[in-house]
Amino acid sequence: MSTIVFFHAHPDDEALSTAGTMALLSESGNRVILVVATRGEEGEPVPGVLKEGELLEERRTEELIKSADLLGVARVEFLNYRDSGMTGSPSTSNPECFWQANVEKASLRLADLLCEETVDLLVIYDPNGGYGHPDHIQVHRVGTFWADQIGLKNIRWTTLNRDSIKKTIELAMETAPDEGLAGIGDDLEERRQRVEEESFGSAESEITHAIDISDFIEKKREAISTHRSQIGEDSFFLQIPNDQFVNVFGTEWFINPKETRKENEPFKSNLFN
Ligand SMILES: [Zn+2]
Repeated sequence: MSTIVFFHAHPDDEALSTAGTMALLSESGNRVILVVATRGEEGEPVPGVLKEGELLEERRTEELIKSADLLGVARVEFLNYRDSGMTGSPSTSNPECFWQANVEKASLRLADLLCEETVDLLVIYDPNGGYGHPDHIQVHRVGTFWADQIGLKNIRWTTLNRDSIKKTIELAMETAPDEGLAGIGDDLEERRQRVEEESFGSAESEITHAIDISDFIEKKREAISTHRSQIGEDSFFLQIPNDQFVNVFGTEWFINPKETRKENEPFKSNLFN
């Protein structure tokens, strides 16, 4: 049995990016720990979803715990920084927010939380945090610093496969622009342009690991749907038909920063290798 720490920025990131891998690892007898830096105070709640007087961070905490439960997570912890919000918003200058945190101090907070654990593998975001969100970038920095301090060598970066997403969108644009990728037909061109920007995910050539999570695809979707304050009933994630959902989300992509994959060399299918 190994202990794997998944370090995420906000409630829902675990479901959207690594849910399948978490479920796979916990089901195969490993100890999966989820640490989340913030409670997602700056998220945009789905209209009407909060009860009177209910705070978004309270709801998002509950949602995260439900999602973690579904995925077989053994332990959930919050670093309790404030959500920094998107780049350019005033919330990024709040002294309590994660983006403003001193990397060394935040890493000490993480070290305190996990002092009793023997961690075999740490999962954080790639250096750009997948798509440039300040809290995701900070997870990368703090996680890297902490691993360095404790001498943990096994790190994987969760990332988006830019080339694969581009291919999926282009195929949808060609074959069935109206019915493909349910509900997002109109946005396809815009989405394709966004994916083309260098800052979005990683090029396939940089990716070392492809984890097939098709056996856990229903769990992934269920985990996503626990985050109802962020993901409405009519959202792409919940509307897309099952067969397309598995095409788009059935593989989770990771990078071992100490490795390069040679051209034509297959991806590794086991996160530990
Ligand atoms: Zn996030």
